[in-house]
Amino acid sequence: MYAIVKEQAARGLALREVPIPETGETDVKIKIHYTSICGTDLHIHNWDKWSQETIKPPMTIGHEFVGEIVEVGSLVKEYKIGDIVSGEGHIVCGHCRNCKAGKRHLCKNTIGVGVNRDGAFAQYLVIPQTNVIICEPGIPEELCSSFDPLGNAVHTALSFDMVGEDVLITGAGPIGIMAAAICRHIGAKHVVITDVNDYRLNLAREICGAHTVNVARESLDDKMRELHIEEGFDVGLEMSGNGQAFTSMIDHMYNGGKIAVLGLQGSDTVVPWNKIVVNCLQLKGIYGREIFETWYKMMAMLNSGLEIEKIITHKFDFREFQKGFDVMNSGQCGKVVLDWTK
Ligand code: NAD
Ligand code: ZN
Repeated sequence: MYAIVKEQAARGLALREVPIPETGETDVKIKIHYTSICGTDLHIHNWDKWSQETIKPPMTIGHEFVGEIVEVGSLVKEYKIGDIVSGEGHIVCGHCRNCKAGKRHLCKNTIGVGVNRDGAFAQYLVIPQTNVIICEPGIPEELCSSFDPLGNAVHTALSFDMVGEDVLITGAGPIGIMAAAICRHIGAKHVVITDVNDYRLNLAREICGAHTVNVARESLDDKMRELHIEEGFDVGLEMSGNGQAFTSMIDHMYNGGKIAVLGLQGSDTVVPWNKIVVNCLQLKGIYGREIFETWYKMMAMLNSGLEIEKIITHKFDFREFQKGFDVMNSGQCGKVVLDWTK
């Protein structure tokens, strides 16, 4: 089968023929239909410091996917050949305290598909049955291939009650934009999203009508005055990984405000702890998705009018994967999908 492989400890990826993986007795084999490119895949492509410390080439990358089950292990009862599925890219141990308590997203032994083991950018993927979920009919398959990052957005946005609340989202990457759409869908009052990239801020306005601020040339304080947000935001979703954005968020919260942090911060992020203390802010870190509560809520929202299909701005045949990574590196995109159906 064809797979997109990190072949060497250097920048770039290669399309290679590799053996189709074996299906273990509790696994399913999925014929991949579509995959989406994640920021993590871009890090691995670009071979940044994190990738150099984490990735062990040669390895098939990718973890955002949708496809069709073509084989099930002898102990698999719940899934059958022909089911259209997506899946959770975090494989958990099943025996640690959190796993036993049903809090699988907090497993300390998590293994990442396409990060710590072979991934989904391939014609076939084999994963444990406990990692797959059936895609409800009616949701376009291309969108199902982005359930993993949509799940990040759902997990973060549902962390705090936001009905009638003013929400600040820092970072209009694909996850920030999807989170803005969710906030609007579930009844937030004002949703303001910031970035330094006009393409993405335009996309945020187009997809969900969020208020946008390009912090490179516009003032968040002006936007707050315009919207009569007088004392600060009630809820903050940090989705940029940018230290200045995080600090600015802490500066613009209402006393007692709540912040969910998804963006992975660099070593230069300075956290103004005393503002957090004196203003009684709550901070919650978010990793991955709640398995599978986030997935159920995600599909329920898509079935009740959450419109985010336009987040997919580019689609390429998998053989043209390099074009997908180039457009990701340009930042002039939402989600970029690779098509494995032909
Ligand atoms: P992304 O890199 O596509 O988007 C981040 C956006 O932040 C970009 O559009 C960038 O222009 C913007 N940005 C840069 N500087 C800014 C500033 N000063 N103010 C406002 N915005 C600024 O990332 P994504 O795929 O949308 O993911 C969002 C974040 O979440 C990333 O930091 C990513 O590493 C992280 N992430 C975390 C998890 C998790 O489980 N915790 C999972 C996925 C992604
Ligand atoms: Zn565990």
